[in-house]
Amino acid sequence: MFPRNIMFIIIGVLIASLAVFFINNTVSIKENGATNGYLDKTSYQTITSFLKLVESNQVSYAELRLSDGRLKWMSKDQRLYAIDVFSSLAGDMDFLNKLKDHGVGLKIIPPSSFSFLNLLVLFLLGVTAIYVIFFIRQTKSGLNNQIGFTKARAKEISAVEKNKITFEDVAGCEKAKEEVKEVIEFLKEPEKFRKLGAKIPRGLLFIGPPGTGKTLLAKAVAGEAGVPFFSESGSAFVEMYVGVGAARVRDLFEKAKKKTPCVVFIDELDAIGRHRGAGIGGGHDEREQALNQILIEMDGFDSHETIIVFAATNRPDILDSALTRPGRFDRHIVIPRPNIKEREEILKIHTKSIILSANVNLAKIAKMTPGLVGADLANLANEAVLIAARMNKLKVEESDFEAAIDRLLMGISQNIIMNEKEKKVVAWHEAGHTLVAKSLPNADEINKVTIIPRGYSLGATHSLPEDDRHLYFEDYLKAEISIFLGGRIAEKMLGLGITNGARDDFKKAFELARKMIAEWGMSENLGTIFYEQGKSEVFLGRDIAQTKDYSEETARMIDQEVKILIDACYKNAKEILKRKSIILASLAEKLIEKETLEKDEINEIINRQS
Ligand code: ADP
Ligand code: MG
Ligand code: ZN
Repeated sequence: MFPRNIMFIIIGVLIASLAVFFINNTVSIKENGATNGYLDKTSYQTITSFLKLVESNQVSYAELRLSDGRLKWMSKDQRLYAIDVFSSLAGDMDFLNKLKDHGVGLKIIPPSSFSFLNLLVLFLLGVTAIYVIFFIRQTKSGLNNQIGFTKARAKEISAVEKNKITFEDVAGCEKAKEEVKEVIEFLKEPEKFRKLGAKIPRGLLFIGPPGTGKTLLAKAVAGEAGVPFFSESGSAFVEMYVGVGAARVRDLFEKAKKKTPCVVFIDELDAIGRHRGAGIGGGHDEREQALNQILIEMDGFDSHETIIVFAATNRPDILDSALTRPGRFDRHIVIPRPNIKEREEILKIHTKSIILSANVNLAKIAKMTPGLVGADLANLANEAVLIAARMNKLKVEESDFEAAIDRLLMGISQNIIMNEKEKKVVAWHEAGHTLVAKSLPNADEINKVTIIPRGYSLGATHSLPEDDRHLYFEDYLKAEISIFLGGRIAEKMLGLGITNGARDDFKKAFELARKMIAEWGMSENLGTIFYEQGKSEVFLGRDIAQTKDYSEETARMIDQEVKILIDACYKNAKEILKRKSIILASLAEKLIEKETLEKDEINEIINRQS
């Protein structure tokens, strides 16, 4: 910002100086002849020749510039002359009287009048120049947006009325489909539901990584119900100008209200819905206005308006709680990365119009692509066709898919795709977590375990708290730590070497252990004293400003106690896994085969073996 402003000022001053230079030479007698005259530079002029001309009444007008002592005059025959004299000539009474006697008008141009003019012109021009430059810049980026927005946006927002996408086009996502069925029924026959006094959710939030089919599913809902589909991305509501985003939200809903029943889809909700007042940078006026406008619109639906608002995000953790309150986006539908079976189905959909050679086995391709989402797979199918076409093949063969996978993987971060060995290690790791959790009576119920990579972690074990816990018993916390450590222990037992995959587990185990020792008084040796690690100020971003209120000695003791606690939990987990190593192996095997195991499947394996 700063240097740019300076640049504008410099440019302004330059333009102004040029203008002043120009004016200085044109304001009075125009040397290049606004009159018929011209500056006679050829004849050698002196002050004496000037006086001679005066005496012979040949001069009609003269001008003396005090700033540089330039004397210009015009002869009766309209010629212009100029010479340099001393500006003190202006105070020479003899000189003045002579001019007066011969009727020569003398204009004295004092320097002060010039510098005043200079200043004024400089100031005005400088300001104008800066203004003009800013204006040009704004016209380029902003005005187009602002003016274009009503027109261009209107086009974008216009509903997809003949939306032919249905559930047929969406593979997998069975749970999500189940959850939105009710909404489809409602959109089809709102009156039927209303008569019964049914409360239908008006805001549903799809949560899942990019490319898993959130947009597709929202479209399919509209398609199944046969209603218009309005869509806009959250980032489109965050504009340079405060108020434009909110206006856009209003615009979107206004259009939707004219076409009820309908579906409104807001993509990338997190772009606007970031929770307010947290982290460095804090609030963002524009975002807040757009967010508020969405809340206003959603609260303001009349009972006769049948608008269902879908939104999508891959960052539910950063959403403002105002958005997820009842009556808003209170229904959350998770759309995970597809598992092996679902990947096969997605591939089926996207190879429908492709002529496949008999050797193409989609199940095998699905097996090769854990971690890929629907969008990737659609891309993969297309890439395979391109490769085959380039080689003038009549059918797409398996080798084309393999080449396409290779090509695709170059564009996707490496850690998403696992080779066989990695897959095995991850399977054992996750099986380790699961088995420890299932073996400790105080632990949470395991809901699901998967080795499908997501985000930064290669697998995940999902535990489901029995009820909303507010109090944590020591046993429960110890069990949690043991579960965290179970991953690494299982890796070791597999014998292919240990990996860095346990980093997050160790971190969580350590943090938990530290809290137990230093904050919750769960250590015999340290007693029930509260050693807070540090206060964190939300406005500075968490964990930036930290203070410590205890001695180094105490710090060392805390560390020691933490280690003792973690070691004990580690030993416990290790004993469990050693004792149940056969179950561990079969859990891992099943995981490699199916990638995701649900609660029932996990229980079945454990019960069968023991
Ligand atoms: P998101 O909105 O979650 O980022 P999209 O819905 O935009 O993902 O998906 C992008 C494309 O990927 C879709 O147009 C479709 O071609 C393909 N796709 C994604 N998920 C699926 C799925 N479950 N079944 C079929 N195709 C899918
Ligand atoms: Mg999308
Ligand atoms: Zn782990």
